[in-house]
Amino acid sequence: MTDCIFCKIVRGEIPAKKIHEDDDVVAFHDIHPIAPVHFLVIPKMHIPSMADLQPEHEAAIGKVMVVAGKLAREQGCADGFRTIINTGRVGRQEVYHLHVHIVGGPEVLPPMLKY
Ligand code: AMP
Ligand code: ZN
Repeated sequence: MTDCIFCKIVRGEIPAKKIHEDDDVVAFHDIHPIAPVHFLVIPKMHIPSMADLQPEHEAAIGKVMVVAGKLAREQGCADGFRTIINTGRVGRQEVYHLHVHIVGGPEVLPPMLKY
């Protein structure tokens, strides 16, 4: 996807503070962190959102989740963290390239949902 900002990060066309890259997955720090640890894990493949996942994406998404857990431990979330996937208008998704937020830090996070 030419115009997708996360595809541009995958291709190295815009800078990002990458903390992991392999053949299928990239992880980088969120540009507007909401906690001491806040990074994003994405498949290199352009999948717009979780609502677009198909059976052929199982391996790629499985790798994203395994990398996310490993990086969370390495980045200082030994006591836990929050995993967020925003989807679509209702989920307030801003970037339409599927990504997993890992949010944490030394302190306990606020309650998950506030209405
Ligand atoms: P959402 O789609 O609602 O899950 O949010 C997208 C997230 O991507 C936000 O937390 C942004 O701060 C983050 N973000 C947007 N552009 C960049 C970028 N160039 N580098 C790192 N993080 C970004
Ligand atoms: Zn993309």
